Amino acid sequence: MNMDADVAIIGLGPAGLQAAIHAARKKVKVVALGKSASSALNKAEVENYFGITSAKGEDLLRIGREQAQRFGASIVEEDVIKLVKDGDAFRIVTETDLEVQARAVVLAMGIRRVKLNVPGEKEFLGRGVSYCASCDGGFFRGRAVAVIGEESEAAESAILLSEYASHVYWIHRGLKVSPQMLERAASTKIEMVPGDPAKILGEASVTALDLKDGRRLDVQGVFIALGAKGSMELALELGILPDPSGKISVDEDCRTEMEMVYACGDVTGMPWQLARAVGQGAVAGDNAAKAVRQGKS
Ligand SMILES: Cc1cc2nc3c(=O)[nH]c(=O)nc-3n(C[C@H](O)[C@H](O)[C@H](O)COP(=O)(O)OP(=O)(O)OC[C@H]3O[C@@H](n4cnc5c(N)ncnc54)[C@H](O)[C@@H]3O)c2cc1C
Repeated sequence: MNMDADVAIIGLGPAGLQAAIHAARKKVKVVALGKSASSALNKAEVENYFGITSAKGEDLLRIGREQAQRFGASIVEEDVIKLVKDGDAFRIVTETDLEVQARAVVLAMGIRRVKLNVPGEKEFLGRGVSYCASCDGGFFRGRAVAVIGEESEAAESAILLSEYASHVYWIHRGLKVSPQMLERAASTKIEMVPGDPAKILGEASVTALDLKDGRRLDVQGVFIALGAKGSMELALELGILPDPSGKISVDEDCRTEMEMVYACGDVTGMPWQLARAVGQGAVAGDNAAKAVRQGKS
């Protein structure tokens, strides 16, 4: 099957859906592709988004999809496996061989958090295991937590969590952070624990973290701060190179280095937060639609 679009959006997370809403409201033909269930937001409980005191990420995604469709966007719940420039257009191929020809593309594929790969990590995600201290730190007031990681993301997470938690263990396999950051960490109640995590334990939620040398830390939260890998294969296929930190560079209009290609959300860098993803999605969707309309007239 083939489809034509003015603007194709790759990613059905908050960035992609907001881009779809803004582009569709400019009365261009929008096709948005991806899987909302794979969005980072899908498992989130959000309490730091403007105007919303508490919401389930999956509910926000469902409402966002409905909004995009109401404004005329077509939603295709499939992964894109190929993205190439074809003359003045872009050719997009999905996992079921659906082909979309588009005049502009918005990249909103999010990032993949680096996993720890220990037993209990998947089982307790959202029940004590988190990849985002600034999102979930507030849920651990007065509780003991472990932060796992070696680099600045782990340091920032541990320092932030020390403002909420009763105790913070920072588990690492050799630190790679600046002396200034170490100094900041040292001035808090963080306990440095050189070691290697083996298993996350719990019942309804996390109760402990086992290390490979046999130590057991009684904690109610485990924050994995090992950085992220971008879903960059599609951008690379198109010829857009991520910068040395792995993100897609964009200007203030969310334009990438390639004409008619925009990017928004976690793929463009930190902070990996809903508010930023939605804000950039609006800018990218708006500008992609404007560019198509200017080309038309
Ligand atoms: C557990 C958890 C809790 C969080 N809590 C909060 C919070 O409380 N507050 C907050 O502000 N932020 C929170 N975040 C962060 C927030 O969810 C992200 O910043 C936000 O979802 C990023 O939006 P995005 O659209 O850029 O990427 P994502 O939401 O990750 O969406 C990426 C989309 O791209 C699609 N995609 C990827 N590859 C392809 C492909 N090849 N073809 C087609 N589609 C593709 C995926 O299917 C997905 O639909 C949390 C994150 C996690 C993991």
